[in-house]
Amino acid sequence: MNWIRVHLMMQLDSFALDAAFSAPPVGVTALFGPSGSGKTTLLRCIAGLERAQGWLRVHGEPWQDEKTFMPVHMRPLGYVFQEASLFPHLSVRANLEYGLKRIPLSERKVPLEQVVEWLGLSRLIDRKNPALLSGGERQRVAIGRALLTSPRILLMDEPLSALDSNSKQEILPYLERLHRELNIPMLYVSHAMDEVTRLADHLVLLDKGKVLASGALGETLARLDLPTAHFDDAGAVIEAAVAQQDEKYHLTRLDFAGGFLWAGKVDQPFGTRVRARVLARDVSIATQAPQGSSINNILNARIEEILDEGPDKVIVRMKVGDSQTLLSRITRRSRDHLCLVAGMYVCAQVKSVALMA
Ligand code: ADP
Ligand code: MG
Repeated sequence: MNWIRVHLMMQLDSFALDAAFSAPPVGVTALFGPSGSGKTTLLRCIAGLERAQGWLRVHGEPWQDEKTFMPVHMRPLGYVFQEASLFPHLSVRANLEYGLKRIPLSERKVPLEQVVEWLGLSRLIDRKNPALLSGGERQRVAIGRALLTSPRILLMDEPLSALDSNSKQEILPYLERLHRELNIPMLYVSHAMDEVTRLADHLVLLDKGKVLASGALGETLARLDLPTAHFDDAGAVIEAAVAQQDEKYHLTRLDFAGGFLWAGKVDQPFGTRVRARVLARDVSIATQAPQGSSINNILNARIEEILDEGPDKVIVRMKVGDSQTLLSRITRRSRDHLCLVAGMYVCAQVKSVALMA
């Protein structure tokens, strides 16, 4: 399948966008970066809402190059804005049908009922006045409307950032559902690490209009040369499967390539894929297997790299098995006392495992 290939440039007063990256043709690619890094500008250029220099190919089709500029209405994309922009004079159903009716019958890929089911809209669809919906509900309708245009790619610009934390928690499972069900790629703009680690498969890191890095989520977050590894909530993403239930102690064993972790009970059948997150600050290091520890999860790991993080802390990247990376943030003093160096085999003690879905 053809990757989405982008190199777009645009000068806006004192801001210069010069962004080149490729995104896989399926799954969620997060465009992640601080406020003002150019995420919205880049997304608008991809949609054709702004006219940038450069080129863009989606599913092997040139949307823009030296000779081509496909106008926005010709691009088969769905766009979800930061603030849901529903038609205030139309009912929820009419808002959804607006998306659907723009597409000839023969080109419709998703039926209305399907979108209603995915986004939990059945109790909202007969509401007359979209202004009376909550922020989260409005955003779900806006996503539904975008999907009903049968897009070949879905663009979302911080769809949760205008919502309070309750609405955010309410809508995240719907986004995860779309992630599982949709066979079109999503470009998902965010500056929130928790959203990105929950939803994304691929990460494009933006800073000051440039792409600092683009790669698989787990690998990219484990790179110590990138700012993300030095955030307070830096950590590893672990793709695992439900392997065993401990009913007595209400714990679930999650297996991943290279080991397993016990986490708080996951009420899912054996084999269910889950994503877990282990923060660097929740991982400590011992040079020998600890005796009499209260910590449930002790993994054999090999140190790959250690980097100073200010006067007192270091960040350590380790491998567990062949493919799983773990980060640990410890003091410089511990590093020196334990004589930790790259190549050493150690025990990584994981104090806490957060389940993402
Ligand atoms: P982000 O979405 O990552 O917060 P934006 O793409 O909105 O970033 O903005 C990137 C930079 O471009 C900011 O410095 C912003 O002030 C500037 N900018 C955005 N739109 C315009 C415009 N129409 N004219 C001039 N500068 C702009
Ligand atoms: Mg923005």
